[in-house]
Amino acid sequence: MVEDASPQLREVMTALAPYAGRAHVVGLTGPPGVGKSTSTSALVGALRARDLRVGVLAVDPSSPFSGGALLGDRIRMSDHALDPGVFIRSMASRGHLGGLSWSTPQAIRVLDAAGCDVVLVETVGVGQSEVEVAGLADTTVVLLAPGAGDGVQAAKAGILEIGDVYVVNKADRDGAEQVRRELRTMVGLSDRSEADWRPPVVLTVASSGQGVDDLVEAVQDHRAWLGESGRLEHRRARRARDEVEAIAVAALRARWEGVGGHADLDRLAGEVAAGELDPYTAADRLIG
Ligand code: GDP
Repeated sequence: MVEDASPQLREVMTALAPYAGRAHVVGLTGPPGVGKSTSTSALVGALRARDLRVGVLAVDPSSPFSGGALLGDRIRMSDHALDPGVFIRSMASRGHLGGLSWSTPQAIRVLDAAGCDVVLVETVGVGQSEVEVAGLADTTVVLLAPGAGDGVQAAKAGILEIGDVYVVNKADRDGAEQVRRELRTMVGLSDRSEADWRPPVVLTVASSGQGVDDLVEAVQDHRAWLGESGRLEHRRARRARDEVEAIAVAALRARWEGVGGHADLDRLAGEVAAGELDPYTAADRLIG
């Protein structure tokens, strides 16, 4: 229903509201190939071993279709496919409404209300959108791996500011210690608003499961810190704010698109382009 923006969603969300707010939402992000899917699968296993119910949303902001790049992830997650304590869904931007900024927080809300103890949101690392999606999480895990310029890439995408936990995956390869040292230094130097949380850097070999328990512990430590410091409410309010804003913007757009498609916008744009109208007046008329 969330993916199809079903009209019944409003009613469903009203019914779900009292049940939401219990899940720990964990975002995983990092450059393609770093091992996000493998790590997600390993994390699901480790969380299930702790008897926790897990929801997984694999989100691809760069793909206009569902199923494409993320189909492989689903297959890799098939270890968990028959486990009723695990729900897995791939979501890609389909262009309607506000795309993933509209659907992702609502999908998180549904999994949360459905009783998932942990919701893992895995995103492909593609610049700004990953930062936005990471903003939905209580705890953001940033993955890097030794090899071709990943450290530099990390700095460029701004992910040194967003990580609550850093992972150097593929620790079975040369250079993992070096990446860990670099990360520690760079995270220490970066301009962080939450100075009282020092993001740990965990080494993992996701493909063998090595270090995954350390990662679970680091993620749970962060969750505990959020609760004790009062930051959890702040993060949840930020997520709700994004959710409300995306719904409001989509409703506004739906209003002017109406039954006639972009007719009003097209007409107003024509008048602005012809110099007959200023863009502020045009915008007022569009939303008025
Ligand atoms: P994603 O694109 O970030 O989701 O990365 P994937 O999880 O698809 O992993 C990319 C490739 O790296 C796959 O072939 C994995 O089997 C491999 N891989 C993942 N984790 C490790 C690891 O810890 N060590 C090694 N050597 N390979 C890994």
